[in-house]
Amino acid sequence: MVKSLNNIRQEFPILDQIVNDEPLIYLDNAATTQKPQAVIDAIVDYYQTDNANVHRGVHTLAERATEQYEAARQKVQRFINADQSAEIIFTKGTTQSLNWVASHFGPQVVQAGDEILISYMEHHSNLVPWQQLAQQTGAKLVYIDLLPDGQLDLADAKAKIGPRTKIVSLTHASNVLGVVNPIQAIAQLVHQFGNYLVVDGAQAIPHMPVDVQDLDADFYAFSGHKMLGPTGIGVLYGKKTLLEQVTPVEYGGEMIDFVELQQSTFKELPWRLEGGTPNIEGAIALGAAIDYLNQIGMAQIQAHEQALVAKAIPALQTIDGLTIYGPQNAQDRTGVIAFNLDNLHPHDLATALDMEGVAVRAGHHCAQPLMKWLNVAATARASFYLYNTEADVDKLVQAIQAAKEFFQ
Ligand code: PLP
Repeated sequence: MVKSLNNIRQEFPILDQIVNDEPLIYLDNAATTQKPQAVIDAIVDYYQTDNANVHRGVHTLAERATEQYEAARQKVQRFINADQSAEIIFTKGTTQSLNWVASHFGPQVVQAGDEILISYMEHHSNLVPWQQLAQQTGAKLVYIDLLPDGQLDLADAKAKIGPRTKIVSLTHASNVLGVVNPIQAIAQLVHQFGNYLVVDGAQAIPHMPVDVQDLDADFYAFSGHKMLGPTGIGVLYGKKTLLEQVTPVEYGGEMIDFVELQQSTFKELPWRLEGGTPNIEGAIALGAAIDYLNQIGMAQIQAHEQALVAKAIPALQTIDGLTIYGPQNAQDRTGVIAFNLDNLHPHDLATALDMEGVAVRAGHHCAQPLMKWLNVAATARASFYLYNTEADVDKLVQAIQAAKEFFQ
């Protein structure tokens, strides 16, 4: 049965608190999300009843821990519709997943004179690893332009993707502009030359249904903490034939098959890429987060956030001197809204909002080239999730108006 979003807030204990004498309105979900009691319980239950190392012991606790860890992998597989669970590698998060692809798959397919294509809207985690790969291999790092409203310029992508474009790495949804990129169309362009598409799914997976086979992404990276799960756990999805080409990042326990004095053989996927004791409780709690999201349904979550944005954008547009970055139409956006108020530094604005209990982010959002493209040093950013309400949007708008009056 589909769970309603009404009264969902009470399942997130952290949200029930007073900050600076005001009820907390948490609008920093693009940075990290809060955790429902079910996820907190999954971590506590694991340590209270099942804690043991995985894939090692034959005793009951070890078997239970292993079963739960591998069940979590299968939940991830079903959640993103991967073809098989061997295609799901547990990592620390999006940053680690993208770094692994760039440093342990990249050198096998990129050579001097080749091109790596990304866009101006990338988070540093999907930019710096490719800079490093380009520097190490002598390849060129090329950027896809954005249209004036911040959407990806597909015509420019078409013009730039050619036989030398060995890897295209693109964010699925921007953490600043609130745009969703046409991943399928880009996949088609890249694959016609037999090359590879890597997708940074950090801001998409928590907010919309994602089917990696339908997208035809070769690799897809995301973080547990942005989708109700804990920090320190994330996922690298890859097509099996490609993951088989990724060289292990860490050698040691858990990932070996047989060790002799001078040489070793390694396990098959996915364990070959998971050296050492993994983040067992993190994976299990990510599985609990997926269960929770599934009870509600990703389509319902997406529709809910779209409704909040449809209310927020026109209300924010009425504030004199406020600039919203990215598309101005609510229907072209996710629940991320970056903005600035004339003559007020975003840090001062965010501090003023915090005094009203409203938590938003201020800064460059790990996207300095995008800030340069927008011609700003920083922005404030409000980002919604399933537990936010229309009343939160009202409070945001009121708090911005109050800050404006106070500083002017
Ligand atoms: N990519 C995008 C688009 C993000 O928004 C973030 C986090 O803010 C990341 C990558 C990095 O995620 P993590 O810090 O969980 O590795």
